[in-house]
Amino acid sequence: MQLEQISGIGPKMLENLAKLGINSFEELITYYPYKYLVLRPNSIYSLENGGVLVGKIDSIARVVYIKKNLNYLTFRVNSNNNLVKIIIFNRAFLKSKLKIGSDITLIGKYDKQKNTFTASDIRFYKLTKTLIEPKYHLNSGIKNNNFLKIINNALVQNFDLVDYIPVYLSKTYNFLDKKNAVKIMHKPLTSASLKQAKLRLIYEELFVFTFKINYLKFKNTINSSSLKRDIDCEQIKSFIDQLPFALTSDQTTAVEEIINDFNSKKRMNRLILGDVGSGKTIVAFIALYANYLNSYQAAMMAPTEILAKQHYEAINNIFSNYNIKTALLIGSLTKKEKVKIKSDILNNKIDILIGTHAILSEDLEFKNLGLVITDEQHRFGVNQRSCLQNKGQKPDVLYMSATPIPRTYALSLYGDMDTSLIKTKPKGRKPVKTIVKKNAEIKDVLHQVLEQLKMGHQIYIVAPTIDQNSNELENVNQLKEKFNKAFNNIVKIGVLHGKQQPSLKEQIMLDFKNKKYNILISTTVIEVGIDVENATMIIIFNAERFGLATLHQLRGRVGRNSFDSFCYLISDQNPERLKVLESSNDGFYISEQDFKLRGEGDLFGTLQSGDMNFKIANLQRDYKILIQAKKDSLEFLKNNIESNFKNEKIYSNIISKMDLID
Ligand code: ADP
Ligand code: MG
Repeated sequence: MQLEQISGIGPKMLENLAKLGINSFEELITYYPYKYLVLRPNSIYSLENGGVLVGKIDSIARVVYIKKNLNYLTFRVNSNNNLVKIIIFNRAFLKSKLKIGSDITLIGKYDKQKNTFTASDIRFYKLTKTLIEPKYHLNSGIKNNNFLKIINNALVQNFDLVDYIPVYLSKTYNFLDKKNAVKIMHKPLTSASLKQAKLRLIYEELFVFTFKINYLKFKNTINSSSLKRDIDCEQIKSFIDQLPFALTSDQTTAVEEIINDFNSKKRMNRLILGDVGSGKTIVAFIALYANYLNSYQAAMMAPTEILAKQHYEAINNIFSNYNIKTALLIGSLTKKEKVKIKSDILNNKIDILIGTHAILSEDLEFKNLGLVITDEQHRFGVNQRSCLQNKGQKPDVLYMSATPIPRTYALSLYGDMDTSLIKTKPKGRKPVKTIVKKNAEIKDVLHQVLEQLKMGHQIYIVAPTIDQNSNELENVNQLKEKFNKAFNNIVKIGVLHGKQQPSLKEQIMLDFKNKKYNILISTTVIEVGIDVENATMIIIFNAERFGLATLHQLRGRVGRNSFDSFCYLISDQNPERLKVLESSNDGFYISEQDFKLRGEGDLFGTLQSGDMNFKIANLQRDYKILIQAKKDSLEFLKNNIESNFKNEKIYSNIISKMDLID
C-alpha cells in the first residue's frame, strides 16, 4: 500500500508527512499519538478543577476585542437547567457557528463565584459518553483533525503488519493481535483497551531491542577468538609516565581492564562510560599505543567530522615523538586522496585511521586491523555495534560514551559489553558555576554576559526551538534579535540548528572555535563534544524542557580551561529539579536524580538515537517491561539459536540485517 493511495493524501500532504519522518504506509499507522484527551461529560459542580461542560447554547455570542491579537467570545449555555456564562479566547471566527438552541461541548474550567466557564476548546456536538481523543505531535502543515482523518482512511485499508512477538509469548501474555492494537492506538474506545494495546506494542519494541543486545552478547562469547598479543607493560608504563599529568585512579583501572582484555583469550568488547571531561580520550589513546606496540592497525571513529579532526590532531600531538603513522579519512577529501589512504591502509602504511562512522561504508580493507574505537557510542545504534565488530579480522573493540546513565539502565542497554566507569574527574578542574534564574532576572545574566565578552571570552546560548511556534518557548532566531538589540549589534552572533546541512553546521562550529563569533545561539545540536576552550559561559533558556542529564552534558561545553565558567539555567518553572545541577557536578548522580524526579519525561533525550529511537517505548517509564522482555528474548534466543531461527523467519531476517552492514 502506497501513501498516495490513501484518500486525503495529496502531494502537499505527502511532503508534510515526510517532514514527520512518515514515508510509508507502515510509518503512517505506527505514528502514534503522544497523548490522549479523555472527554467525560461532567456535572457543572465538579468542574472547578477543569473538565467538560455539556449543554445547549442559550444566548447569541458576542465578541469582545481586547487588543490586537486578543479577543474573546462570550455566550450563555444551559447545562442541566444551570445557566452558565462562557468565555473562550481568540475564537472570534466561530461566532457564526454558535446558534441558539444547538448542542455544545466545552472543555475548560468553572469559576463558581463568577458562574463563568472559561473554555479552552469547543466541540459542536453533545458529548453523551466518554470519548478519547488522540493528540499527535505534528507540524504547522498538518492539523490534528486532518491527520486523524488520514489515519482513519488508512486503517480501513487491507493491510498486514509484521508481528515480532513470537506466538507462544503472545499467548502467554494474552496480547492483542498487532493490527488490532495499532487500530486501538488511534481510535481507543476505552482506557482499558488502550492500555492493553500500548502494553503490547511497547513489549514488542523492547523485545526486538533486547533480542539484538542478547544476540550480540551471545556472538561475542562464541566468536571470540582473540588476536595474538604480547603486551609489553614496561613500555606502556613509560608512555604513561611521560604524559603531562598523572592518571586518575579510575583512568588507571580502565587502562588495566583494557590490558587484561588484550591479554585474555576473549576479544575485547568494552565500553568506557564517563562524564564529559572525565578523561576517557587519553585512556583510548593508551589503548591505541598498546595496539601499535603489537604491530596492529587501529581505527578510531567519531560521530562528526569536526570531532574526528579534533581526535586526529590530538593523536598526532600525543604521538609526535613516536613513529606512528596516522591518517584522517573524511567525506570532504578528494577522490584521489581517498584512494591513496585506502591503498596505504591495505599496504600497512597507516597505523591509525581516524574518521567518522562513514568509514564503515567505505570499501576499506585493512592489512591487520587490531582495534576499533568508537567515540560517543550513544550516537550509534545496536546494529552499528555489530558491524564494527565484523570489520576486518575480528579486532578488539572499545567504545566511549559521555552519557552517564543510572547503573541499572547501563546494564540493560549495554548488556552486551563490559564496562569501565570513570567517575572521578582529573584534579584541578573548576566546576562550572551553575545558577538557576527566572526570566524576570535576565538583566543579571546579561550583566555577566557583558563581563565575559569584555574579557574576550565566548558564550553559548541554547533555546529549545528554532522558530517561534508557541508563546511559551524561546527560539533561536528571536534570541538572536534580542541579543543583537541588547548589545547594539556590536557582538558577532552565530546561529546553529538541526535543520542546517551538516557541512554548514560544522563550518559554523569551526568558525566559533576560531573566534569568528562571540556568541553562538543554537538548539541542542552543540551537545556533541566539540572543544572550544575559550568559551566560559552557557545560557540555557526554557531549561525546564530538558532532562537534567542533557543539561549536564550541555554545560560540559564550558569549563574546559583555567577560567571561571558559568552556566545559567533560565526557567520560570520547576526550580527544585534544576537545583540539582546547582549543587552537583557528578553526571551519574545527576542522572539518578533525573530518573527519580522526572515522571514520564525522557531522561534519555540524548540517548534515544539509532535503535534506541523508540516509537512508543520509554526506557524509563517502561523499565519493568524492558526487564521482562530482556528475559523473554534471551530464552527465545537460546531456544532458536541452534536451528539458526529456522522456524522464526522474522528473526533470522533481523540477524542477517545485523550481520550485513559489515
Ligand atoms: P572526555 O573525552 O572524557 O570528555 P577528555 O579525554 O577530552 O575527556 O579530557 C578532558 C581534558 O582533561 C583533556 O584536556 C585531557 O588532556 C585532560 N586530562 C585527562 N586526564 C587527565 C588527568 N589525569 N589529569 C589532568 N588532566 C587530564
Ligand atoms: Mg570525548
